[in-house]
Amino acid sequence: MVSHVAIIGAGVSGLTAGYALRKIGIKVDLYEKSKSVIEFGAGITLSKNATSLLEELGLMNVIAEKGYRPMGSYIRDFKNAKIVSSMEFDENFITIDRRVLVEQLSNKFLEMEGNIYFGRDIQSLNSSTGQVKISDHSYKTYDLILVCDGIKSSFRKKYFDTSEPVFTNYVAWRGMVETKNLPAHNGNEKVNVYYGPGSHCVHYPTGHKNLINFVAIEYNDKWLEESWRIEGEREELKKSFKGWNPKLLSMLMSSKELYKWGIFDRPMPKTLYKGKCVLLGDAAHPMVPFLGQGGCLAIEDAYCLMSLLKDSEDLLASLETYNSIRNSRANWIQKRSKIQGRFNHISNPFMVALRNSITKLMMKRSVNKIHSYNLIYELSRVNNT
Ligand SMILES: Cc1cc2nc3c(=O)[nH]c(=O)nc-3n(C[C@H](O)[C@H](O)[C@H](O)COP(=O)(O)OP(=O)(O)OC[C@H]3O[C@@H](n4cnc5c(N)ncnc54)[C@H](O)[C@@H]3O)c2cc1C
Repeated sequence: MVSHVAIIGAGVSGLTAGYALRKIGIKVDLYEKSKSVIEFGAGITLSKNATSLLEELGLMNVIAEKGYRPMGSYIRDFKNAKIVSSMEFDENFITIDRRVLVEQLSNKFLEMEGNIYFGRDIQSLNSSTGQVKISDHSYKTYDLILVCDGIKSSFRKKYFDTSEPVFTNYVAWRGMVETKNLPAHNGNEKVNVYYGPGSHCVHYPTGHKNLINFVAIEYNDKWLEESWRIEGEREELKKSFKGWNPKLLSMLMSSKELYKWGIFDRPMPKTLYKGKCVLLGDAAHPMVPFLGQGGCLAIEDAYCLMSLLKDSEDLLASLETYNSIRNSRANWIQKRSKIQGRFNHISNPFMVALRNSITKLMMKRSVNKIHSYNLIYELSRVNNT
């Protein structure tokens, strides 16, 4: 039986898993190498596949209260902002400031008497014994180690496979602006997505201090920086999005801080566990962000593992079931996210017209297929076989 767990990394996956495991009485030590919560001030969207689990965990109230319910989305043309397609969301779709989300998860984890050790780097681990070496030179042994150290996961490279994150040729420009700077288009308070040739842009309110989050993504085969995130120059952004809707461009320009983010990818390893060590979130299945599902899948991972560990007498069998449920789901979303990127960036006018017709006809069905995934049902099916 699992009674004491170590978690490496205090991002969405580590904190949600920590809280969920505390709920079922497992003792949790969470190690975060940064000195505090390090989320970048930007937005994140959470769809029903994740928020229904937050509801089950008793986290939805506090998160919804701090976030925003956009109740729908518009797909628009990059130039004239004309609506190509629209769709309604119900109250289960939340947008929120990432820092606020992580802070809330962290508060809830602490309320459940979870232990967080900031500024403690896990330096190595032993997947057979469950022992970790901590940066203060101490050693501790656990029944299970949750590896939640993100896309750059060094533990994955050491213990699971040798793959490295690879630049995808996508660069994301991210910023936050005030509501008053929103383009004066009807429906600007919802999730707005603009499709353009070789690029696209998304903006939505975060519910925090009247701030709007935007992400403008361009195809760019040059990422020469050592860092994955650097401050971006307004003039460069202007050049990259030349010819775009002037009202939208003026909103992008009004951001006080502008960051350029290289989007990286890493294939999934064959198995998500090894001995007493299991991968969650971006460490397990990073994905390009075009379906807004990376964080949602991290929440699914956390709930799935908690559910399987609850009353489990056979750790290996629980991890094997985790592997099979999460592998098929994440593999599919990873592939779909890549396709969505190509779809958003079509430039040939004939293909653009075709893409827009497909969007109008199929968007709702296609998005619903992703958002209506019911992990609790999947788990009950496994339990009954
Ligand atoms: C532009 C963009 C937009 C996105 N939009 C969305 C969206 O709208 N919706 C959505 O669901 N997802 C979205 N995502 C994806 C989402 O942000 C990620 O999938 C999610 O944040 C991953 O969380 P994580 O906890 O797995 O990893 P991370 O958030 O990367 O956390 C890993 C943590 O581990 C710590 N760490 C690393 N090594 C060690 C160590 N040795 N010891 C201790 N600590 C360590 C790090 O400091 C870090 O805090 C987006 C991503 C991008 C790039």
